[in-house]
Amino acid sequence: MTDQRRSTPRTDHVLADPHLQEAARRVGDRLVKGAVREALQRCRAGDISPAEVADVALELVPVSASSMRPVLNATGVIVHTNLGRAPLSDAAVEAVRVAAGATDVELDLETGRRGRRGRSAMAALAAAVPDAGGVHVVNNGAAALALVTCALAMGRNVVVARGEMVEIGDGFRIPELVESVGARLREVGTTNRVRLADYERAVDEDTAFVLKVHPSNFVVSGFTSSVSVAELSTLPVPVVADIGSGLLAPHPRLPDEPSASAALRAGADLVTASGDKLLGGPQCGLLLGRADLVESLRRHPFARALRVDKLTLAALEATLTGPTPPVVAALSVSADDLMVRAEKLVAELSESVPASAVPSSAAVGGGGAPGVEIPSAAVALPASLARPLRLGEPPVVGYVTRDRLLLDLLTVPESQDVLLAEAVRRAAGSTEQREA
Ligand SMILES: *Cc1c(COP(=O)(O)O)cnc(C)c1O
Repeated sequence: MTDQRRSTPRTDHVLADPHLQEAARRVGDRLVKGAVREALQRCRAGDISPAEVADVALELVPVSASSMRPVLNATGVIVHTNLGRAPLSDAAVEAVRVAAGATDVELDLETGRRGRRGRSAMAALAAAVPDAGGVHVVNNGAAALALVTCALAMGRNVVVARGEMVEIGDGFRIPELVESVGARLREVGTTNRVRLADYERAVDEDTAFVLKVHPSNFVVSGFTSSVSVAELSTLPVPVVADIGSGLLAPHPRLPDEPSASAALRAGADLVTASGDKLLGGPQCGLLLGRADLVESLRRHPFARALRVDKLTLAALEATLTGPTPPVVAALSVSADDLMVRAEKLVAELSESVPASAVPSSAAVGGGGAPGVEIPSAAVALPASLARPLRLGEPPVVGYVTRDRLLLDLLTVPESQDVLLAEAVRRAAGSTEQREA
């Protein structure tokens, strides 16, 4: 022990190792020094030899300067809130990389003068929703609704159905958001039913707009009725539709999910939506609708506080103009194809772990298409693998049901199947070792 301590190398000698120098150029001195300190500690404790210090330190250096790690989403939940919602398309990722440096987000290279910020992303959005007279983008769906409320309804009334007083998640409640920016809520109807006459009675000269909120994470069934955007548009005040998921046009697999185009055609004056749900893009809030209203929102002082950054604009444009993003692609994968992948994986894994290919049911998740079950296929494994898989590299997140861990393939890109099989084999190996 004393010998080991005496022979522990000096920090600056270890840091001079060329591989560690190279790592420092990649992730910075601070993280490399931390790894070296940890390795030296192990050396002093006698766990590793002085000759091993540099190699161990190198292993301890994180892969990137951000501690956020790529995760294999095998939950079968396409838009998983805890896994960062929509995974970006390769084209969007590339657009982000390009925009990360100095970029012409606000400069017209032709004239050398200031250009309208994010004009190409706005043009792509306008082209994707021809029914919108004007378009604007803010930080997220909540910001879009906050801006509309702040600009149109401060000190005035917003009429909303009681059955649409929605809590989205993590305690975020839409009615509280509306009130927090200075509007008064006027609730109409009951939990399960509301009629046009209820709205007609509530609308008066203090009414700024009628808000139609999509109940995006629950379904009410039984003795229910609600009032459509088309009916609401007969009222003498603007109709704002918070559709939630960001579906721009109707999707055949999600017949009950509202879309921006359908809401606008039905007579909505403004539509608000999220960019990182079913649109499959970066986190942002879309504002679509009447040109005069959108322009007044864009020019409102509060808009600046909700402004999106250049990375978002780049990813949004690439999502709109580029190849189908993963979220949208996942909606049209066939369950038969997924079963073929599951069987292939099971065949590859059979020697290392008890595995079987089973039919499963995937979901949109993240505030979209509640109640819709998407036929899928999964690899079923012993539930004891859930933790080692989550802690593996890359981490794999599935779900446990009836004492089995299911890895749903709908949300795993096919190109990652090899990685998935390796991760399962490693996790199975690690539990075997512990049990032995
Ligand atoms: C998700 C959602 C929001 C909030 O959007 P964020 O992008 O999460 O801020 C608002 N309204 C509805 C109906 C939603 O589904």
